[in-house]
Amino acid sequence: MEIILLGPQGSGKGTQAQLIAKNFGMDHVETGLLLRNMALKDSELGREIDRIIHVEKELVPDEIVFEALEEETVSVPKNKGIIFDGVPRRNSQIELFEKMTAKHGRKIDALLYIHLPFDESFARITRRYSCDKCQARLILGKDIQNVGENCPVCGENSIRQREDDTPDGVTKRLEIFYKETVPVVDYYKKIGIAHEIDGMGTVEEVYAKIEEILKNSVERK
Ligand code: AMP
Repeated sequence: MEIILLGPQGSGKGTQAQLIAKNFGMDHVETGLLLRNMALKDSELGREIDRIIHVEKELVPDEIVFEALEEETVSVPKNKGIIFDGVPRRNSQIELFEKMTAKHGRKIDALLYIHLPFDESFARITRRYSCDKCQARLILGKDIQNVGENCPVCGENSIRQREDDTPDGVTKRLEIFYKETVPVVDYYKKIGIAHEIDGMGTVEEVYAKIEEILKNSVERK
């Protein structure tokens, strides 16, 4: 089974992807993480991606995205399904994505779109932190009470906010999501494989809805 997972920043996509990967034995291919790791490289390409993600807060050019994505796709064993997280992210990526997945024998069974109102996304993201050492995802006011404290998971003093999670960064990325990515969801709705999931509610409540959709997809196969 292969699925596409889309949702605005803060929709809990990353957390849900981890649950799906664990319970359905799938691989989580996180496009944003692939590109953010490329942006750390001390090379011309690394610096260009860093500028696009962290300064311009725009989408990365399609050629760069697909080169990285194809490399990651071929690294997944054929008998394991893939959760494609954060791609296709604009209309121009749909055809590239379909060609790339077909070339590697991957057929998309479902698109899951976790929907969340703009204000809720904004509120959640500006409270989102993570630990540089153990990568734990931490919510200010829930998992940590202030940003200077040690990580509650590994105990290191390594809590950071993503550079693009500032209020203006979040606003711009959410605007891009509604303008560029929602039309992709509409395309997959037209071909009948998109499922819209309400992202309000607890992690468990959202996951229960996803699990039901995926179990039905597996049964239909
Ligand atoms: P994310 O972690 O999903 O918020 O992604 C971080 C950044 O990576 C985004 O703000 C974009 O600049 C870039 N990015 C992620 N996925 C894509 C994609 N499919 N196409 C273009 N750029 C992307």
